[in-house]
Amino acid sequence: MTEPAIRLHNSKTRRKEAFTPLDAENIRLYLCGPTVYDRAHLGNARPVVVIDVLYRLLREVYGPECVTYVRNFTDVDDKINASAQARKEAGAIETLEELIRQRTEETIGWYHADMDALGALRPTHEPRATDFIGAMIAMIEDLIAKGHAYEKEGHVLFRVRSYKDYGALSGRSVDDMIAGARVEVAPFKEDPMDFVLWKPSDADLPGWESPWGRGRPGWHIECSAMSYELLGASFDIHAGGIDLQFPHHENEIAQSCCAHPEGGFANVWLHNEMLQVEGKKMSKSLGNFFTVRDLLDQGIPGEVIRFVFLQTHYGKPMDWTAEKARQAEVTLRKWYRIAEQGLDGVSEPYIAVISALSDDLNTAEAIAQCHQLAHADDISTLRATLQFLGLMGRSVPEWASAPEADLSGLATKLAALRTTAMETKDFAPVDAMKTALLAAGVEVRMSKAGVELLPGAGFDAAKLEGL
Ligand SMILES: [Zn+2]
Repeated sequence: MTEPAIRLHNSKTRRKEAFTPLDAENIRLYLCGPTVYDRAHLGNARPVVVIDVLYRLLREVYGPECVTYVRNFTDVDDKINASAQARKEAGAIETLEELIRQRTEETIGWYHADMDALGALRPTHEPRATDFIGAMIAMIEDLIAKGHAYEKEGHVLFRVRSYKDYGALSGRSVDDMIAGARVEVAPFKEDPMDFVLWKPSDADLPGWESPWGRGRPGWHIECSAMSYELLGASFDIHAGGIDLQFPHHENEIAQSCCAHPEGGFANVWLHNEMLQVEGKKMSKSLGNFFTVRDLLDQGIPGEVIRFVFLQTHYGKPMDWTAEKARQAEVTLRKWYRIAEQGLDGVSEPYIAVISALSDDLNTAEAIAQCHQLAHADDISTLRATLQFLGLMGRSVPEWASAPEADLSGLATKLAALRTTAMETKDFAPVDAMKTALLAAGVEVRMSKAGVELLPGAGFDAAKLEGL
């Protein structure tokens, strides 16, 4: 079988291009990973699911042994330090380093559990920044030697104007960026655009010995050093959220291309758009901020969250809504009922789904093709395709095997109560039943057409007893 050629939208050239690997036996992929101080929120999960689809596609087309996927853990950061310092001040007996390690270990454990629940395969390498401090120091020394960086007052800064292509990825000039960005002016900077590669640490902050005194790395150098160590001076694809394009990705390019001018750093840049919730930007002040774990704890299965993500192309903003989650659950239940009848390991994923994903990860079209398969009752192909898309493991997930609540009797009863209330003008029994249903996690929709009862997040069948 000839696989379709993969085409990807490259942010660097702003065009959809045929993907040509540097080495088809070792395709190299890098995704900027999380800063590990807290649970991942829903927006953090989007690049993980997008790149998981790409990783699965590359493995399918080139072979599972031929793809190296790196996603880092940022485990040195001022927010991590602040939380460890707060625990120290609250009387913890451990050293600051121990408290930091505990916090990052715990957060990495949460992250793995949450991303596993979303069906994301673990990357080949998950380097931690603190394990690569030596490589970062070596890269910074090299940048100083080549005139691209300078030391001042214990800080090392990257000299942005020494790299003529700075800003090419996001399509801005340095002067535009200075005018529009919140650049920090500091006495130790030659130019306001220069950014930190290394900064000094006080005794109460984590630090490493370096040629510039005890200190810690800036954030951007981390990805440049780790991608070089694990993937080399040039590699195939670098991915991340569009919010990281400037300054983080511009800074990565500047550092890597100046330290290793012989390599081209990343050939293709893939950026996913942001996530909204019910049409609004997710924010703590709007009260619509939640983590992946919050949704899982509400009883929304990981496959349902993943399905909702896949319905929107990665290059478009995506809107998370409770209604989409409810519909996704209905669709998945239906597909699982069909797929359950298939035998194990007898089929390949549907070629039309591979074609859809090969066209710049058109996941919405892949979902449409799954609808076709379900409609055609192509059981074993549907099963293999759901597994390929990460929507199903070896078997149907437990939540989908549990029988769905039959609420039709209650809907009939509520409709009858309403008819009576129209005559008696006493709506109290209707309101009482609606309140009880809501308390059991059932959404009530009443219209002229009739009564609809929809079990939602947090549905508890036990609370329906006696109704
Ligand atoms: Zn990065």
